Parts: sequence; structure tokens; C-alpha cells
Amino acid sequence: MKKNLETLCIHGGWHPTKGEPQQLPIFQSTTFKYDTSEQMAKLFDLEESGYFYTRLANPTNDAVAAKINALEGGVGCMLTSSGQAANFYAVFNICQAGDHFITSNNIYGGTYNLFGVTMKKLGIECTFVDPDWDDARIEAAFRPNTKCFFGETISNPGGNVFDIERFAKMAHKHGVPLIVDNTFATPINCRPFEWGCDIVTHSTTKYMDGHATQVGGAIIDSGNFDWETCTHLGDPSTINPQPSTPKYPGLTTPDESYHGLTYTKAFGKQAYVTKLVSQLMRDLGSIPAPQNCFLLNLGLETLHLRMPRHCENAQRVAEWLEKNPRVAWVNYCGLPSNKYYALAQKYLPNGSCGVIAFGLKGTREDAIKFMDNLDFVSIVTHVADARTCVLHPASHTHRQLSDEQLREAGVAPDLIRLSVGLENVEDIIADLQQAMDKM
Ligand code: PLP
Repeated sequence: MKKNLETLCIHGGWHPTKGEPQQLPIFQSTTFKYDTSEQMAKLFDLEESGYFYTRLANPTNDAVAAKINALEGGVGCMLTSSGQAANFYAVFNICQAGDHFITSNNIYGGTYNLFGVTMKKLGIECTFVDPDWDDARIEAAFRPNTKCFFGETISNPGGNVFDIERFAKMAHKHGVPLIVDNTFATPINCRPFEWGCDIVTHSTTKYMDGHATQVGGAIIDSGNFDWETCTHLGDPSTINPQPSTPKYPGLTTPDESYHGLTYTKAFGKQAYVTKLVSQLMRDLGSIPAPQNCFLLNLGLETLHLRMPRHCENAQRVAEWLEKNPRVAWVNYCGLPSNKYYALAQKYLPNGSCGVIAFGLKGTREDAIKFMDNLDFVSIVTHVADARTCVLHPASHTHRQLSDEQLREAGVAPDLIRLSVGLENVEDIIADLQQAMDKM
């Protein structure tokens, strides 16, 4: 039976039958038992599916992965121990030394560093582009060895909205998939596959968990990118000539570490996600603990209730900030004055997220004083929590970036990131007001 998002948040992934636990059990076991050696050999050859070692698969983790997969509408999902690991694996699954990819420059500082510094050390180069540039300027970044395009639905911390359909078309025109980090919107507010995106990633640490209990990540495969013809299946206008040499050899040529198995031949639409699990996770091993997946699942059970409330509260706070004489600027795509309002109406018609970026009139020190004066609104390196929290990226998350890199990443040095929680909105506003009054 086809289920709506609200029902999937609660029932997706775990379907207990007679006498089984109603709540998802934590399978806190590294290994799983078999009766014969042959049974286990078949698992190693990927001839049969079954659990044998938690680094590769675990029933608790799989149930949560299945729920997230259903919410995004994919063909398969792999969970990771963090959002960082998810973004690394998502790109590394299709890029190797000598390859190149393109990314929006307004992305989370940790991802910016991962792509621009750490992956470069692995021989994978990336070009940062401003999504506000015109098509010709962005398309100039594509090279023969370009393997994917990356962006965030709503950028952290700037709150810019990524034009998914535009960049999906552009990526497909050049025969590469679009990867979208959908952390801030969550599938409750945006489902990037519906706009042509091929792979979705998440930091599940954020709204999916929603209570600051675990760090985790997810990668979901739409199954819509044909790795042999380098074509998006839903968009025949982008059919590309068959490349003379395979563009994605890791998926379309035999994997020696799996007895010569070719992922596209053996797994069809699930080739990408199967390679993620059976090759990258096997070798790199950033799995989430089953205990963490259990906690994540509790968060997911109320995601559909929490997201609208985060958005409602944030909208009120953003409107209040916009009218406040002490505030220099506000960036929240739910405000009609916002540069990304039209894109938000298209991609996020039911609301975006609870994160607002704003700047106070005054100096950098004034911003710090304001934050120190807050009562229950807490200074934490976190967003998307039930509790309202605040951060100054230039002093905290993005402190590794120079002022120039900060501006390139769309982060003003005076930017305060306010993650509006689920408290009474009048109390949130009162706390912000009293902190400004004491400045
Ligand atoms: N992607 C986005 C949009 C994020 O905001 C973050 C963290 O803030 C990450 C990825 C990295 O996730 P994690 O902290 O779970 O590693």
C-alpha cells in the first residue's frame, strides 16, 4: 500500500509481525550466525543477501535506512556515521584520482573544506561555482573528467535556495549526476528526486534526529542515473553519446575485489548504492552504531510534526528581526523580500527550515555580546534542534576559512546563524529582545 510521508515517518522501515517488538529493536551485535560454511560463502559472493557483519549491514541500521529511502523516494539508502562521511562517500563512489567535480560555493564549511582541501589530497579536484552566476559561466567549469555536480537545497549557514531543476538539467546535459545535500529541508519540505536530482545526502544529525542525540549521515540513490550511457532516465532529452571509455569504471567495469562483478550488470538501478555499501563501507567502515540508528529513528517518528513548527516559528522570528531597528539584515527565504523567495515558493512551498541568518548593526564584538546575553537560547555548534540555538560562523564553524573564502562561501563576517527551535515563539522573541536590550 502506498503511504504518505507522515505514515512513513512512523511506519517506514520496520514492519513487525506476530509477537515481534512494536518498537525497532537495537541489534547490538557485531556478527550474525550461520549453520553452514556454504551459507556464509554465498553472502560474501553477493549471491544471497543476509547479515554477517555489522560494518556491512545490521538490521537496526537497515530499517532506518529503509525509512529514509522511502521518505526520499529512492531505490536504496546507506547510513554513515556522520554527514561528513555521507558527502565524502557520495562523491568518492564515482570519483577517483584524476577526476574532477563541480560544487556550489555556498555549502557547509565542513563540506567546503572536505572538497577543497582533503579530497584534493586524494587527487580529486573540485571547482567552486556561485549558483547565482549565469549558465554560461557555470557551464565553463565542466571538463571532460568532471563526474558530478553538488549543491545544498538550503545552504548552511547562508540560507540560499539551490535551483535543483536548473542544475539537474545542466548536470545531465554534461552527462553527470546531480548530488544534493537535503539536510536543512528534509524530505518533509523538499524531495530533490522530484526535480531531477540523482543522489541525495543528509547529515541526519540535524532535523532528522532533531534532539541533538546522535551524529549520522545518509546517502540515497534515486536509481535514475544510467552509469553506462551517463544519462538521467527521466529526461530523454539529455541522452548522451555512449562514452568511448567508461566514465564511471567503478560501476560499469568488473570490480576485482568482488570476483569481477560489475555493479551495473549485477544490480541495475541499485548499482550506485550497492557499490557504496559493498565496496566503500566494507573498506572505509564509517558505519553508524545501531544504538545511534535507534535514536535517529525516534527522531524520524516526529519529523513530519516538528518541521512545520520549526518553519512557523522561524517565519515569525524572521519577520520580527526584519522589523527590528538593531538588525542590519536578515536572510530567510520565507520572507517576501528575500532574494530566494521565488525559488523557495517553487521548491519549499510548505516551509523551508528553522535556520535564519542575520547580522546586527555594530561591530563583530557586538554580535558576540548579544549571544553572551541570551538566556535559554544557547550558543552551540549545532542547528536543527528542538532547542533554539545560535552561532557566529566566522568565530566558530567556519573559522578555518579566510575572510575571502568566507565571502566566497556566502558567509558574511557578521552573520549570526539562529536555529529556531520548538519552544513558544513569544518566549524565543523575548529572549532575543532582552539580549539586544543589554548590548
Ligand atoms: N551537510 C550539512 C548541510 C551540514 O549542515 C552539516 C553539518 O552541519 C554536514 C553536512 C556535516 O554533517 P555532520 O556534522 O553530521 O558530519
